[in-house]
Formats: sequence, structure tokens, C-alpha cells
Amino acid sequence: MSDGGAPAEPCVFCDITAHRSPGYIVFEDATTMAFLDIFPFTRGHLLVVPKRHGARLTDLPFDDQTALVRTLDEVCRRAERLAPDYNIALNAGAAAGQIVFHVHFHVIPRYGESNPFVSRSRERLRDDDARALVDTLGAG
Ligand code: AMP
Ligand code: ZN
Repeated sequence: MSDGGAPAEPCVFCDITAHRSPGYIVFEDATTMAFLDIFPFTRGHLLVVPKRHGARLTDLPFDDQTALVRTLDEVCRRAERLAPDYNIALNAGAAAGQIVFHVHFHVIPRYGESNPFVSRSRERLRDDDARALVDTLGAG
């Protein structure tokens, strides 16, 4: 964990927000962070997370929810540098497809491709493209 609410088990997103593990970070403030998804559905797929650990939105204090949505707004504006259209998703619970139990919004740019959410293997983010994306999306 990095700020409040200790997870019961090691948490990959707490490790990123605490800078213990690497992440391609495009935004950070006192209570939130946004970084590139390592297995993107589309180019520039972003995750927006609170620094406080909680499995789902309703586990967070209201102030953290508010801060998270404020950062979501900022990240959406930056995603629009890549494409005007995008999906926002939040998976709450295993039956809803949640794999990482630290609440996160997905922001998924859309480029006119057919449904990118169907089950298929996703390619791991390439380091050179990730760096280019951080250059594009990381500037305020
Ligand atoms: P969800 O199914 O909503 O829990 O989505 C979890 C997302 O986290 C998936 O899209 C994964 O590709 C992504 N993910 C898992 N580990 C990492 C990581 N270390 N850095 C960035 N994204 C990750
Ligand atoms: Zn966590």
C-alpha cells in the first residue's frame, strides 16, 4: 500500500503507486496516479488509480473517489491527444472481469477498430512505444 488502506496481500498497483515497481506513469498527484496498461486493448490504454488501496470504488472514502474522478477527467483530456473517442471502464469483482483488486478506471482510446474487448491474447506493451506515449500523454 502507499497511502492508507493496507491490502491483505501484495498489490501490484500499490507497488506502482509507491514507486516500488516500474510503471509508465503519465500523471501523478498526492492521491492518484495514471499509467499505461502493460497489456493494452488499444494503443494508449491507460489505468487511473487511487494511491489508497481499495478493491472497488465503494471501498474508498468519498474524498478519494472525488479525487479519482478528477484525475479521470484529466486523463481523458490527455487521451484525446491520441483519439477523440475512447471507452471508460471499471470492472468491480471477479464476475465482472476484475483481475487486479485495486480499484482502477480503464481509459481505452478507440481508433475505429472492431470490438477490442473480445477474448484474445493481448500483446505486451513495447518499451519504445510506451516511452513515446509517455512523452505524448505525460505533459501537463
Ligand atoms: P481488470 O481486469 O479491470 O482488473 O484490469 C487489470 C488491468 O491491469 C489489465 O488490463 C492488465 O493488463 C493490467 N495490468 C496488470 N499488471 C499491470 C502492471 N504491472 N502494469 C500495468 N498494467 C497492469
Ligand atoms: Zn493496492
